Amino acid sequence: MYTRCGKSGVLLPKVSLGFWHNFGDDAPFERSRAITRYAFDHGVTHFDFANNYGVPGGSAEANFGRLMDEDFRPYRDELFISTKAGYGMWDGPYGEWGSRKYLMSSLDQSLKRMRLEYVDLFYSHRYDPDTPIEETLQALVDAVRMGKALYVGISNWPLEPLKAATEYLKAHDVPLLIYQGRLNMLNREPIEEGILDFCREQGIGFIAYSPLAQGLLTDRYLNGIPANSRMAQENFLKSERRTPELLDYLHQLEAQGKASGRTIAQEALQWILDQKGVTSVLVGASSVEQLKNNLQTIQ
Ligand code: NDP
Repeated sequence: MYTRCGKSGVLLPKVSLGFWHNFGDDAPFERSRAITRYAFDHGVTHFDFANNYGVPGGSAEANFGRLMDEDFRPYRDELFISTKAGYGMWDGPYGEWGSRKYLMSSLDQSLKRMRLEYVDLFYSHRYDPDTPIEETLQALVDAVRMGKALYVGISNWPLEPLKAATEYLKAHDVPLLIYQGRLNMLNREPIEEGILDFCREQGIGFIAYSPLAQGLLTDRYLNGIPANSRMAQENFLKSERRTPELLDYLHQLEAQGKASGRTIAQEALQWILDQKGVTSVLVGASSVEQLKNNLQTIQ
């Protein structure tokens, strides 16, 4: 169920839960609560956030704050909670990218929304080519020194700045715990660009986001576009992604899965978990049923 995160002391569940979609004010609170509780009750100890998750941005963290108070407070030490800053969160010049000003203010806001004293993991959500990386990285180091985060992570940074970040953080006694990148059967950049290998060699964990390609690598779109699906919103997942080639690929996966008793989603998740150096897959879910299906990959 758990894998060591790189060469750290931290164990993470092979399947972790992401709160990007389905946990904001645009989703029914009781459904979000049921998914979150099901996850924790089945060993999913790692919940992943960013400042801007949910509609409106921040509402996923705020709803989790309510869950902390109502359900999870007694279990705080059993949970590994991450958040991030990097993308646009508030108006003006201090509400995005990688300045110390933005990262520090954003982390304070996230802690307030989630009603937490600290997060387990704080990420730089994206590389900022216009801010000296020392400024961004020192903000991460200081977040740890101030007791607001226990570990730090990097998400979506290209390989060269990632290498520099690894050195900087090591030299400041806050080693990089984990890299968060998009990896699934349809998007293999972290493998092709050498990021996964670099993390493995350096003892840095790797967590794969959008492991199901936002639902493309499931049975969700085999027979059309369900009205309640992410694709129906035509926002982050466009209907043009549902091509005849994709459907052929899905039918192949379906046939392959039948031989091993796995669903398409389970085939897709297992493929990632089989890659050397992967610590965890970070799934999303709009129902308990979906999460249950995904968790069966590792049961
Ligand atoms: P997935 O690829 O797991 O897609 C989740 C969606 O797929 C669900 O919302 C659901 O779609 C569908 N789905 C999930 N399981 C099943 C199933 N068993 N059967 C059928 N359909 C299923 O991940 P996300 O794209 O949601 O990303 C996961 C997490 O990764 C995020 O919450 C976030 O924490 C992180 N992330 C990080 C990013 C970064 O920049 N660091 C960027 C993106 C994500 P539907 O809602 O239509 O039912």
